[in-house]
Amino acid sequence: MGKYVIACIVNDIQILDGLYNKISRIVDSDYIVESYVNAEQALIGCYNYIIAGNEILITILGNNNSEMSIDKFIVELNKNSPNTKNILFEDVATIDSLKRIINEASIYQIIPKRFDQVDLELIILEAIKQNAVEKRLKDYQRVLESAVERRTKELNDINVKLEILATTDSLSGVNNRRSFYESSGPMIRYSRRENKKLAVLMIDIDKFKMINDIYGHATGDKVIKLMAQKTQGVLRKSDIFGRLGGEEFAVVLPNTSERGAMKAAENIRFEVENLEIKSPKNEIVKFTVSVGVTMLHSDDPDLDTILHRADLALYDAKRAGRNRVCLSKTDLNAEA
Ligand code: GH3
Ligand code: MG
Ligand code: MG
Repeated sequence: MGKYVIACIVNDIQILDGLYNKISRIVDSDYIVESYVNAEQALIGCYNYIIAGNEILITILGNNNSEMSIDKFIVELNKNSPNTKNILFEDVATIDSLKRIINEASIYQIIPKRFDQVDLELIILEAIKQNAVEKRLKDYQRVLESAVERRTKELNDINVKLEILATTDSLSGVNNRRSFYESSGPMIRYSRRENKKLAVLMIDIDKFKMINDIYGHATGDKVIKLMAQKTQGVLRKSDIFGRLGGEEFAVVLPNTSERGAMKAAENIRFEVENLEIKSPKNEIVKFTVSVGVTMLHSDDPDLDTILHRADLALYDAKRAGRNRVCLSKTDLNAEA
């Protein structure tokens, strides 16, 4: 633990001795009282104390035997010891030196040159007390800051969790309906404005009611989960995939041509066709999906209009025997 240094810098030996005696009487071994007649040497001495882990608590400054003015000394010391309490004898406290000290450092008190006219002990004790208070405040502040930091991090974590909860479908882990709509809306408006191609897929698990009926609801849930994960894996990062409800999913594919959309849909269909899970009775459960595909039209007013078209195409796929991809009739002749 470092010590507190009280540095007296006065070129009058008698004053210096008087200061030393007065101060030594009131401080204990945690304090070092230093006397200098020369400010340059004092600065070097103070820096050495600081380097060794001590603190310059107080300086008492009068005229000195060097080129260095007292204001220069205080400004220099302040760079490495900003909390030092500087006490000035009034004969060195000229307007110019005070201006500089106040602007570039700090000053604690100005005392008469005849310091026996003031209660110096009281001033020193007051400075020591103030230092202790400031130190306690700083420690308290540190404790508070770390507590606030910890709490802020906890709140951030909670917010991230809430955000995930609010936007994610808990069974499949993909976007829920609300989040799918929120993400798709701006993408569709952007694509329409910039005349960019965009495709929408509607995906529905075939004969899902039968899976539930034969193998149980839990197995149905497992099918939904696996199908969602696999489909997500087939899609691009920029695609927006969501569970609209039940065993119905939709995808918005930005920057995608009709040919690209058909390929993506076929990839999903093929991937799902090759999946299997085990029922509680260890039976192998296989399943398929049907997919309806449509393109964004320049006069589409909103996402629902496009989804409705994709849904009609999906039902074409169902009618045609399921486990297949159908393009919306409205897009059939559109491709250049
Ligand atoms: P299709 O091939 O025509 O799509 O037939 P389908 O049986 O899949 O169609 P339908 O819409 O009649 O059945 C969907 C079923 O999905 C009905 C409902 O009980 C079931 N379902 C909806 N949500 C869930 C869920 O979260 N978990 C499970 N296990 N089943 C669900
Ligand atoms: Mg279905
Ligand atoms: Mg359905």
